Amino acid sequence: MKNGTRNEERFCVKCGTCNTVCPVYSATGNEIHTPRGKQHLKSKIAKGEVSSHYAEIFSQCLLCGACLEACPRGLDTPELVTSVRAELPRFSGLSFLKFVSRKALVHPFLLSGLTRVGSAAETLLGEWLPQDSGLRLRLQGFGQHPFKLPAKGYIDKLKAKSGNDNEQQASRQEQSISFFTGCLANYLQPEIAEATQLLVAETTGRKAVVPLAQTCCGMAAMAAGRPDETLGLAKRNIRAFEDNELPILTSCSSCYFQLKTYKELFADDPEWAERAAGFTERLEEFSSFFLKKFSAGSEKITGSNKSSDLKVFYHDPCHLRFKLHITEEPRQLLKLFPAIDLQELEGGPQCCGQGGLFQVAHPDLALQVWKNLMGDYSALSANTVVTACSGCLLQWQRGLGTGESDGQVKHLAVFIARLIQ
Ligand code: SF4
Ligand code: SF4
Repeated sequence: MKNGTRNEERFCVKCGTCNTVCPVYSATGNEIHTPRGKQHLKSKIAKGEVSSHYAEIFSQCLLCGACLEACPRGLDTPELVTSVRAELPRFSGLSFLKFVSRKALVHPFLLSGLTRVGSAAETLLGEWLPQDSGLRLRLQGFGQHPFKLPAKGYIDKLKAKSGNDNEQQASRQEQSISFFTGCLANYLQPEIAEATQLLVAETTGRKAVVPLAQTCCGMAAMAAGRPDETLGLAKRNIRAFEDNELPILTSCSSCYFQLKTYKELFADDPEWAERAAGFTERLEEFSSFFLKKFSAGSEKITGSNKSSDLKVFYHDPCHLRFKLHITEEPRQLLKLFPAIDLQELEGGPQCCGQGGLFQVAHPDLALQVWKNLMGDYSALSANTVVTACSGCLLQWQRGLGTGESDGQVKHLAVFIARLIQ
């Protein structure tokens, strides 16, 4: 696997451009939180000048990618952060995940959430979610959220219904696309998977096949400094989708970002490089896919409810905004619907502060980033928030609730499916 390439070939000139866009630094104003500081510290690690605070400093990053986008020298600080996390056991004897767990155990908010007997989050983490699901890590920071657990995961329900992949494949003529659900739509909010199926049926006239052996995309494992685990998950997904050659659609922006990295992950592995490249080439981003489909004309759009008062705020997931630059497509998709008044933050898109493990290790910092966003959001008159990233969605749902009245927060798939029904 290639890792740290950009950072090995170039060096930081300490210009500080990256600091101006870092959401953690902008929430705290503390130099210790800057991407520039992390670049500097990495050079110390290379020389073996390691202190006990390194794990702490390298845990204070959302991996949002804003600094990479801004750096005139193309330095990839998020990549540097994940490579340092992976190296932690070598110089501190403690894995990054162990470090984060220890932090969580001494934090009153997280401790109260994690120890609440019978809480939904605890049930999820302890008994229901597979060990390798990235959703486990995301949910650690939501110990006090009243999740409603579906009786069965989406894929488990399919397994119970259709038996196996072969049965789904038997009706291949009727299928238009392969669907990667991601952990949130599979385990916690299956209505996202159901809404995606509905949109696929509406726009293609056919069904989406759901390979039953698919697993977590591996983003959380990568963020936790466990690249070997990420490779294992990636191989399982590549294998799972090789039964057909259909395009692959996922409803989660973070999963899409991670699945896109598979080609790069296996660049140095001749056995897997070609299979990984084949997998990545088939990927379709959710809003771009449905923008193409709905732009081709749908009676459901012209017939959608025009009289509703839908003041919508679209939240850009960092994983789509930086590096992939997919910001216009979701907006264009929403603007196809005549009932929608799309609203924007005055200063432009902002990070929500979720960041997977960041939320677990630094709930206070995450809250500061969230409050920055809320400061600007409260100036809008939006009554609906829409996004397509599982982490952002959980963060907004925790902040504003999932209700149908003011402040409703919906996944893009669920929101559009309701509009056309
Ligand atoms: S923008 Fe790039 S070169 Fe400038 S301080 Fe940040 S990492 Fe270093
Ligand atoms: S990835 Fe985001 S949070 Fe991390 S250092 Fe860069 S800008 Fe800051």
